Amino acid sequence: MRLFGCVCGQFHSPAEGLGMTGGRVQVPVPFYVIEHPEGVTLFDCGLHAALEDPQDRYRQALQSQDLDVTFAAQDTVTSHLQRLDIDPDRVRYVVLSHLHFDHAGGLHQVPNATLVVQRTEWAAGFDDELASRYFLAKRFFDLGHQLRLIDGEHDLFGDGCVTCTPSPGHTPGHQSLRVRSAAGDHILVSDACYNSQVVESRNFPDFSDHPAMNRSLDALLALRGPGTVMIFGHDPAQWGDQALLPSLRS
Ligand SMILES: [Zn+2]
Repeated sequence: MRLFGCVCGQFHSPAEGLGMTGGRVQVPVPFYVIEHPEGVTLFDCGLHAALEDPQDRYRQALQSQDLDVTFAAQDTVTSHLQRLDIDPDRVRYVVLSHLHFDHAGGLHQVPNATLVVQRTEWAAGFDDELASRYFLAKRFFDLGHQLRLIDGEHDLFGDGCVTCTPSPGHTPGHQSLRVRSAAGDHILVSDACYNSQVVESRNFPDFSDHPAMNRSLDALLALRGPGTVMIFGHDPAQWGDQALLPSLRS
């Protein structure tokens, strides 16, 4: 079984919104490809290809809040999968950490996949009040995919290699993924913690449920074994020029 980390473009934001310091920052938008004998699985799937267009209405809404995204054609899910010699139509599962546009956005490129989502997250996406509070836009996830709604921890293939672990707070049903592969033991934290600085600072985004985020992050940290690598949601230090994760860069 192999695990690949891929970057689908960059998210631009004032530093404080991401628990960072400095002025304006750009951070990677990662997603992951897991080649398991029982099916290719993605953990998150990056940005919608339409956001490459500066006229796209969602991108304009981001810009109006001092946010933006940029990406190149080779950054899309389709391009990364082709480079890895994987037909996007062959993707069996997409495990979604949560329903934000920079995690669910690429779903339109993998129409045959079954989505694996926490039931509370999916319900929040269809609850007007929660969807508005947590910025869950149906355009990106409500595309008619097959669904596997899960409640709590879930061993995807029943062999202990790919395990969903709930980590609510960033959104109501956020989850992280533990992957045991030839590359070692990884916890794909996603937005339960944006970057390594937040492990200490606990500087969480305004819209999120901070007590729940604290509990979730503590629980994820407690799962670590001696060789476990935590990969955070949008950490430039893990994906930039001095990437800490050369083994995962495909
Ligand atoms: Zn995110």
